[in-house]
Amino acid sequence: MLEVLRRIVQEVSSATDLGDALRVVVARIREAMSTEVCSVYLYDSESKRYLLMATEGLKADAVGKVSLTSSQGLVGLVGSRAEPINIDNAPSHPKFHFLSETGEDPFMSFLGVPIIHNKRLMGVLVVQQRDSRQFDASEESLLVTMSAQLAGVIAHAEATGNILDLPSSEAPEPQNKPRKSARFNGAPGAPGVGLGTAYVLNPAADLSSVVDRSIEDPAEELEKFEQALESSRAEIRRLGEQLSNELSPEEMALFDVYLNMLNDNALGVEVRNRIQEGQWAQGALRQVIMQYVGHFQKMEDAYLRERATDITDLGTRILAHLQGEAGNQFDDVEMIEDCILVSEELTPGMLGEVPTSKLRGLVSVKGSSNSHVAILARAMGIPTVMGVVDLPHNQLDGREVIVDGYRGVLISRPSAELREHYQEIYDEECALQADLEVLRDEPAETLDGHRIPLWVNTGLLTDALRSLERGAEGVGLYRTEVPFMMRDRFPSEREQQQIYRQQLEMFAPSPVTMRTLDIGGDKALTYFPIEEANPFLGWRGIRVTLDHPEIFLVQIRAMMKASEGLNNLRIMLPMICSVMEVDEALHLIYRAHSEVLEEGFDIDMPEVGVMIEVPSAVFQIRELALRVDFLSVGSNDLTQYLLAVDRNNPRVADLYQTFHPAVLTALKTIADEARAVGKPVSVCGELAGNPLGCVLLMAMGYDMLSMNATNLPKVKSILRGITRDWAEKLLNQVMQIESAEIIASMIHLSLEKEGFGRIIGPGGRG
Ligand code: PEP
Ligand code: MG
Repeated sequence: MLEVLRRIVQEVSSATDLGDALRVVVARIREAMSTEVCSVYLYDSESKRYLLMATEGLKADAVGKVSLTSSQGLVGLVGSRAEPINIDNAPSHPKFHFLSETGEDPFMSFLGVPIIHNKRLMGVLVVQQRDSRQFDASEESLLVTMSAQLAGVIAHAEATGNILDLPSSEAPEPQNKPRKSARFNGAPGAPGVGLGTAYVLNPAADLSSVVDRSIEDPAEELEKFEQALESSRAEIRRLGEQLSNELSPEEMALFDVYLNMLNDNALGVEVRNRIQEGQWAQGALRQVIMQYVGHFQKMEDAYLRERATDITDLGTRILAHLQGEAGNQFDDVEMIEDCILVSEELTPGMLGEVPTSKLRGLVSVKGSSNSHVAILARAMGIPTVMGVVDLPHNQLDGREVIVDGYRGVLISRPSAELREHYQEIYDEECALQADLEVLRDEPAETLDGHRIPLWVNTGLLTDALRSLERGAEGVGLYRTEVPFMMRDRFPSEREQQQIYRQQLEMFAPSPVTMRTLDIGGDKALTYFPIEEANPFLGWRGIRVTLDHPEIFLVQIRAMMKASEGLNNLRIMLPMICSVMEVDEALHLIYRAHSEVLEEGFDIDMPEVGVMIEVPSAVFQIRELALRVDFLSVGSNDLTQYLLAVDRNNPRVADLYQTFHPAVLTALKTIADEARAVGKPVSVCGELAGNPLGCVLLMAMGYDMLSMNATNLPKVKSILRGITRDWAEKLLNQVMQIESAEIIASMIHLSLEKEGFGRIIGPGGRG
């Protein structure tokens, strides 16, 4: 049975379209189960009907024509019960519905199983037989297994817009019916919406198609390779320069990573060796690049797997020069307008292909919000969708598309209504941002005089610049791992000192909260691989740096030295689970302080705080608070750990509920406990910048909120338009409610009633 199943699955996955896949399924199942009929009925949720889409055994001309309502027949019963129905005398069943067009009257036995994908009914798979008999358990399990496979295939076809059009009634469809817009889901890479034309970038040359070839004259091939290498270096430098106005020196370091990969001691040596051994330059290059890529792809860690992309990009560039095809992919960049750059695998280098003034959005089939290109896109403010796995990207070139970077969605061939809808969001976003600019120098103070400072989260230099423009009063979270991720080795104490000095100087005299290195989980460094089965429950944050005091001490010393004369540094510890970790970290921080004093620096001991982002910390707030100067809630991780939902896994994304009552109870407990021991407490997770969330957090008594610069003006506008009393009443109401959805819609409605529809509506989405 397993073998049969394996063969069918293989055949189905190589089918060219949905119709083809369905035909394969019905034919093979009928054969494998030695039955007389196998059919697939697909469910159309709009018309609420089942349509016969493929059959072996019933009349072929009934396909695409015969349909049943959702409550009709045994098929309707299987669908509504969402479980298999296995009977030996179908015609005698009260639900039996006779369809003369299919010629099914002589069939007695019926086994139908629902086809369900992500809780959604997609259709019913049926086998029938002339004799009266009950299908046995193994036949039933084969059909259930097959239907689970089929559900994935149908969902994929639907996602790629390939689903066969189902009639909305039994009336024939008009021939010229416009096709629906196709919607593809990915992950939000950078917020915002962009409307424009898709420009598909393909790698200029295809490494995998290069063949091996023996050569007589290695010297000639070596010469070609050197020239290609030199041209690639020049090209990467040129791309880097094109982006230099957009990126800070630290972000530009990414291009140095590329250039370093090209240096003589790395890739080059291995390629030259193979050329010396008699392989032509292209073959030698392919062998070496593939070996590196294979090595990186095998890594468990998502960040390290991303590095395979950088290497492929690099190898492809060199190959293009070897093949004499390099150069800009677009013939006339001047002609490009409103460009949505689409690629199977976007790389940082590709961003340089089109001037940023013309870029409206970015889309990548592969990659995640952790990819370098997403980090750069966020810094540059370009709406981006990553990991759109179902996207037939090669068919998109020249098509009108919309990028929704808030939701991680790409829409191709938008209908007039959708286009209008998104254009409104875009215009509204621009207008809203412009209107909110007047609040820049106004305090975040409620109508009844309660002041709550709004700080920002930063990582790149660009974030810091935008934060200042938007009136940030300090930095509540500087993610120090970001500059570490843009390099190919640990930055030295001196380099770190320079990076940190920039941040501290930009915001002085306002405080800057620097979080110690928070790597592990989904954030790894190419040069410090961490391979684990459960990275979010593994070697993360403070656990790594306490095990490597040399890394921790260098970082703390660099932060302290950078703050000399400014004294606006605050140090924050991530992923704290127990008081021992705080004691150990404090011991190292005091040691670093005395070391820098010994070196002659004149620096006050900075304030030290801990992040509350693990459930155990919630239950030890007092013990933790008594050891440090402040607390800050990492609501992103706290939600992930309280609800046991991986924050990066799209499969369980709908279970990651920001307003889950358990999360709100934990947040309230933290605020109450911190107040009881007199320690300031803030929130620096996404919830703080959520226009709905900020109201509850203010009401809970949080002393400060830290968020991304984009949302700061919206949050300020809301807080300035309500009273604390009103927010407290709303909080009391929502704390009585058991459902996250109801809580969210209740806050939404309340804010709408207060006149904040524009901020929290589509144009004001967080
Ligand atoms: C958090 O977990 O809420 C947080 C602010 O940290 P990060 O998102 O960097 O893990
Ligand atoms: Mg965190």
